[in-house]
Amino acid sequence: MRRMESAGLLSCFVAQRHPLTPSKSGSHIAMTTTIDPTQADPNAHNGEENTMPSFGQRPGHRVFIETYGCQMNLADSELMGGILGTSGYTAAPNHDEADVILINTCAVRERAEERVFGRLSHLLRYKHARPEVILGVTGCMAERLREDITERAPYVDLVVGPDAYRRLPKLIAESQEVENDPVVDVKLDRDETYEGLSPKRTPGISGWVTVQRGCDKFCTFCIVPFVRGRERGVAPDEVLRQCRDLAERGYREVTLLGQTVNSYRHEDTDFADLLELLVDVDGLERIRFTSPYPTDFTPKLIETMATHDEICNYLHLPLQSGSDDVLERMKRRYTSGEFLDLVGQIRETIPDIAMSTDIIVGFPGESDEDYQQTVDLLEEVRFDFAYLFKYSERDGTNAARQLEDDVGEDVKGERLSSLIERQEEISGEVFKNRVGQTVQVMVIGESKRDAQDLCGRSDDFKMTVFPRPDDRELNPGDFVDVRVTDATSHTLLGEPVFR
Ligand code: SF4
Repeated sequence: MRRMESAGLLSCFVAQRHPLTPSKSGSHIAMTTTIDPTQADPNAHNGEENTMPSFGQRPGHRVFIETYGCQMNLADSELMGGILGTSGYTAAPNHDEADVILINTCAVRERAEERVFGRLSHLLRYKHARPEVILGVTGCMAERLREDITERAPYVDLVVGPDAYRRLPKLIAESQEVENDPVVDVKLDRDETYEGLSPKRTPGISGWVTVQRGCDKFCTFCIVPFVRGRERGVAPDEVLRQCRDLAERGYREVTLLGQTVNSYRHEDTDFADLLELLVDVDGLERIRFTSPYPTDFTPKLIETMATHDEICNYLHLPLQSGSDDVLERMKRRYTSGEFLDLVGQIRETIPDIAMSTDIIVGFPGESDEDYQQTVDLLEEVRFDFAYLFKYSERDGTNAARQLEDDVGEDVKGERLSSLIERQEEISGEVFKNRVGQTVQVMVIGESKRDAQDLCGRSDDFKMTVFPRPDDRELNPGDFVDVRVTDATSHTLLGEPVFR
C-alpha cells in the first residue's frame, strides 16, 4: 500500500493517484518530485515542473513555475505559462536561471502549506544571490494566507490568488518597480473563467481542460469554496477550442476538470451536453472527467456515458462517509441510501464501469457505529479503489468553526488502517477478476520497475504492465490490447495481443 501526503486531511492512499479527489475530501496532493512522464498517472500529473516551453530568452523575462497540489493547480500553472508567454516571458530551465519564480500552491491541507513555507525559506537563497529575482506565491494558499505569507516570508514579492492570473504580467512588472512591500492581488471574481487564453502545455498524451471553476457546495470539511470562489462553467465553445487544440498537439486523452464537474452549466448547456460536443473531436480517443458530485449525476449523464465509447468506463464518485449522520454533519447532500441507489443506476446502465471513491474517517462525532456503516457501504459497493483519509481540522472551514474534532487520533488511525486493509482486499479481488479478460491500454511508456516492460492505463483507469513486444514498436499514446494474466491490488499484468 502506498501512503502519500495529501492536503486538507491526513490521508492514506489506496490504489492509484487521483487528480482532483483530494480537494473534494480535502486532500489535494502536494508533491515536489519531478514527474516521470512514463510513470505518472496521465490524469494525475502531480509534481513540480516548469510548464512553460523554452524559446528565445529575454533578460528579466525567464520564469520558473513550481506547482503543488491537484490537477487543477497544474492546469492553472499551464494557464499562467500561457498568459506569461504572450507577454514575452519564456521558461527558465531551473530556478538558478529564472528571473521570476512562482510557487503555485495548494491550501487544502495544513502540512502542504507548511511545506510551501519551508520551500520559500529555501528559495530565499535565490533572492540573496540575485536580489532582482521576483519570488511569487500564487494559487489557493495565496488566497487563504496572504497575510501569513507576507509576515512569515517578507521577501516574497508577489501574492496572487486563483482569479487574478490574467493580471500576472502587470503584477510582476509592478513588483519589479516596488522596493519593499509585496504586490498582492487575491480578488476573487465570480465571472473569471480564463476564456480565450491558451495554456502552455507540456507535450504529452494526456491533457486536462478546466471546464468549471469554484464550488458552491460548502461541505463543512473543505476550504475550496473559500479559496476558489463560486462555481462557474467555462463556455462550451471555449472547452471545445481547448480540446481541439489538445488533439492537434497529439494528445489522445483529455480529463475535464471541475470541483463538482457534473454540476457544470453554461447557459443552456449541461455537463451531458458538453460531453456530447466533445466526443466528436477528431483525435481525442478518451475523455475522462473528475470529480463528479453524487447528487448532480443525472440519468441523462449516465446515458451519455453509456452511449459513447470515447467516454471512459471509470467514475470517481466521492462518498466521504457511509453514515447518514456524518454525511449530514459534512453537509453532503445525499444519504447513504441515495448514494447506493445512484451506484445501482450507473451499474445497471454501464455494467462494466470501474468506480473509485474518497472516504474520510474520524470526522467530528463519528461513532463506532457510524464507522461501521462506512465499512458496510464500502463492502456493498466494492469500489475498484479508494482514497482514504483521516480527518484533520482545517482552519477556515465550517467544520473547524462549528464542530469539535472529538475523535481521538488513535481511533482515527485504527479506523483508517482497518479501512485500508479492507479496501486492499476488495481491490485485490476486483483486479484479480480481470484475469483472463482483454483490456485496451493506452501506452504511457516504459515501466519504472523493468525497462523491458511497458505500462499504460486501461479504459477503466487501471495501470497495466506488459512486456515490450519484440516485433513492433509501441509509443506513448498508442493503443494495444492486453490479455490480463495476473493482477495485484493496484496493477494489471498481461501480454499484448495483436490480431
Ligand atoms: S463539493 Fe466543493 S466543498 Fe465539497 S468537498 Fe468538493 S470542492 Fe469541497
